[in-house]
Amino acid sequence: MRLSRYFLPVTKETPADAQIVSHKLMLRAGLVRQTAAGIYAWLPIGFRVLKKIEQIVREEQDKAGAIELLMPTIQSADLWRQSGRYDAYGPEMLRITDRHEREMLYGPTNEEMITAIFRDAAKSYRDLPRTLYHIQWKFRDEVRPRFGVMRGREFLMKDAYSFDLDEEGARLSYYTQLLAYLRTFQRMGIKAVPMKAASGPIGGDLSHEFIVLAQSGESEVFYDSAFDGFDWQQSEVDYGSAEDLSRLFDQVSGMYAATDETHDQARWNQVPEARRREGRGIEVGHIFSFGTKYSASMGMTVQTRDGGQVHPQMGSYGIGVSRLVGAIIEACHDDNGIVWPDAVAPFKVGLINMRADDPACASACDDLYRRLGAAGVETLYDDRDERGGAKFATMDVIGLPWQLIVGPKGLEKGIVELKQRATGERHELSAESALGRLAAA
Ligand code: ATP
Ligand code: MG
Repeated sequence: MRLSRYFLPVTKETPADAQIVSHKLMLRAGLVRQTAAGIYAWLPIGFRVLKKIEQIVREEQDKAGAIELLMPTIQSADLWRQSGRYDAYGPEMLRITDRHEREMLYGPTNEEMITAIFRDAAKSYRDLPRTLYHIQWKFRDEVRPRFGVMRGREFLMKDAYSFDLDEEGARLSYYTQLLAYLRTFQRMGIKAVPMKAASGPIGGDLSHEFIVLAQSGESEVFYDSAFDGFDWQQSEVDYGSAEDLSRLFDQVSGMYAATDETHDQARWNQVPEARRREGRGIEVGHIFSFGTKYSASMGMTVQTRDGGQVHPQMGSYGIGVSRLVGAIIEACHDDNGIVWPDAVAPFKVGLINMRADDPACASACDDLYRRLGAAGVETLYDDRDERGGAKFATMDVIGLPWQLIVGPKGLEKGIVELKQRATGERHELSAESALGRLAAA
């Protein structure tokens, strides 16, 4: 992408209404633009990040055997009357009336809708277990939308729903999502610790919140740093093996991790002091099992193998896709701006032409840009007629992992400069080796 033809409204000023660093940086780097309280337009570079996060979530859900579909944002009130939640859900629900005076709502979540859809089609034990998910916008009329996309009113969520014949099956579906989450967040380059959450209406131990550590977090958290050493991508757990999944769950449950809601001082004292990590955190995901709450209230039954009828056991599994953009920035930034982890960066490389008015520089950059594109390296090419200093500042604030800097002096010696955003390390090398490195990185 040539910056001279792109839409990247970067600003120097720090917006006054933004309180936390990720919100400030998202506005300054031109990722989003607020259009109403708690509602944001995703500008091109922010949209690229959102799509990358969404795609990682999707791939890991698919690997875990969940099946993607897409449900609408607008739902009918009648659907919610079936579960009894229409009246119970408070002012967070945005209620809408259509021209025929029918009561509608903008979905804050989709338990009712997925239960109705699956209920009408799945009648037998052969149709279960299934986990269905979608990635769709939600609306919750939060009392206090704040921190930018972190607590918005309209936000993008991945929500998955599992249906099982019995509790044992429901546990396995839950463990499967637990592992999928561990892998999902690791791939994004952040640490999100599963913390025991206040258990849902059916009690039990099947509720975890995934928390990214950050000072601006809304919850207080406590966890055993033993978590930090695990590589969930590599861990050899077969999604098809009940034994592997149970072992994983025991391993996770064995390590202390809790929010202030579930914190147990006595157990905490048993964690070796050097391993105790305390701080604040942002909830980026939440999984829980809730038994037959919706299947029973909404009259969903399936025939069992021996001819009986049961209400399926269900669970729901959310990831805050748009919140993650903010949460990742909270975890990955420095004084100069965002430092994107590779996997979610909007572009991998920022190619900087230090002298756009110098024909030799321009043609060297054009050539590099073409070859990076041919090698499949996503590149944002700053070909604008601007000072070098301004270009560096822009690249630093938008946080692409690599900067490839081309100037007239270097070119005379046959070299370009490669800078790694995260470490600030700079290397002088030939254009050829720079291309090789970037293609391999
Ligand atoms: P919170 O406690 O932060 O209000 P929640 O418990 O109400 O969240 P869930 O219903 O568990 O949220 O939704 C699943 C995920 O959706 C959350 O883990 C969070 O990442 C995201 N999410 C929830 N509310 C918002 C919001 N207002 N803005 C952005 N993301 C949100
Ligand atoms: Mg939650």
